[in-house]
Amino acid sequence: MRENADRIRINRKLLEIKPSGIRKFFDLILGREDVISLGVGEPDFPTPWRIREEMIYSLEKGITSYTSNYGIEELRAEISRYYEKFGFSPHPDNVVITAGVSEGFDLALRAVINPGDFVLIPDPCYVSYSPLSILCGARVVSIPTPPEFRLNYELIMEYSRIIEPKVLILNYPANPTGVSYSKKELEEIADAVVENDMIVISDEIYSELSYKFPHRSFASLEGMEDRTIVLNGFSKSFAMTGMRVGYVIAPQDLLDAVLKIHQYSMLCAPVTSQIGAIEALRNGEDELETMKSEYLRRRNFFVRKIGEYLETRKPEGAFYAFPSIRETGMSSEEFAEKLLMEKNVAVVPGNAFGESGEGFIRCAYAVSMDKLREAAERIIEFVSEL
Ligand code: PLP
Repeated sequence: MRENADRIRINRKLLEIKPSGIRKFFDLILGREDVISLGVGEPDFPTPWRIREEMIYSLEKGITSYTSNYGIEELRAEISRYYEKFGFSPHPDNVVITAGVSEGFDLALRAVINPGDFVLIPDPCYVSYSPLSILCGARVVSIPTPPEFRLNYELIMEYSRIIEPKVLILNYPANPTGVSYSKKELEEIADAVVENDMIVISDEIYSELSYKFPHRSFASLEGMEDRTIVLNGFSKSFAMTGMRVGYVIAPQDLLDAVLKIHQYSMLCAPVTSQIGAIEALRNGEDELETMKSEYLRRRNFFVRKIGEYLETRKPEGAFYAFPSIRETGMSSEEFAEKLLMEKNVAVVPGNAFGESGEGFIRCAYAVSMDKLREAAERIIEFVSEL
């Protein structure tokens, strides 16, 4: 018998959270061979063979046990060396291996948020930022970034006049907009971070897919290493989405906090994937460059083609185009649903990434050139027939 009739079985905070708008479209097309999906942001390449081979070999040798909570030492050392290319070299002790950036993001938030803290999030942004912040009891403040989709000093300061933010969430190159930043722009954002005494959670998962600017870690900027929790992983750069391996780089106090949660909630990242990740960093550079140049070729093709019919900014990184569909007079959801029904092409409505994504659709160009060509033709046909 319930003592309290008000008691509900589900965490109340979940009532504030909608299911992911990406999943909804993914479920709609599951098992439909006739649909070309530009929906899910997942490399169409398999994990490079040399990485798979190392993982298979490790299984043959029977390496299947837990690793240290921190992750395998060699991997942490490789990450520390690897990050030099993004402008700073963290000590291996400042690296924790996680089950993807997804886990890293959750840990980072839980490590710093007290109920009621304000978190600034650029809008539109990756789907998990707001829900996971809410679950931590944060008060989420979305900063609308259209039409340029660029966060800047003024925008952050404008919002900081109204509230006292504790955390700023950054992601560049960005999902869903493809925006990335020059050093100067990052330095201006860093000024706002210092003026408001904020902690930055910097999701750099697309760092290898930066076409316009060489990627520069936010922690590499002057004074930022001590304020930044860097998140990165192997899902996108090394086509290892299903392997669930990523990492957190943070200053000591924040890293200790992250580790405290990770050791209870996850224990360690999958050992096989960690072994694959070591091989990726040691010998994966060639495959990485091959994939990157292919994404660039696809971006150039898709944006040129679609851009004649729908206003589309050139993505500076990642593998997403974010065309405006405003001129069609339809909402993003309406557009995506009709496109799927009439032309068998799946895209994600922009409002899945926040209110400011309304009026746009996200098209992932991580599919083969043949499929991309066909999808572009069908989208153009759809728009022309309206
Ligand atoms: N962060 C961003 C910006 C993403 O786009 C994604 C996946 O699409 C993730 C994090 C999730 O990464 P992971 O597979 O490492 O959990």
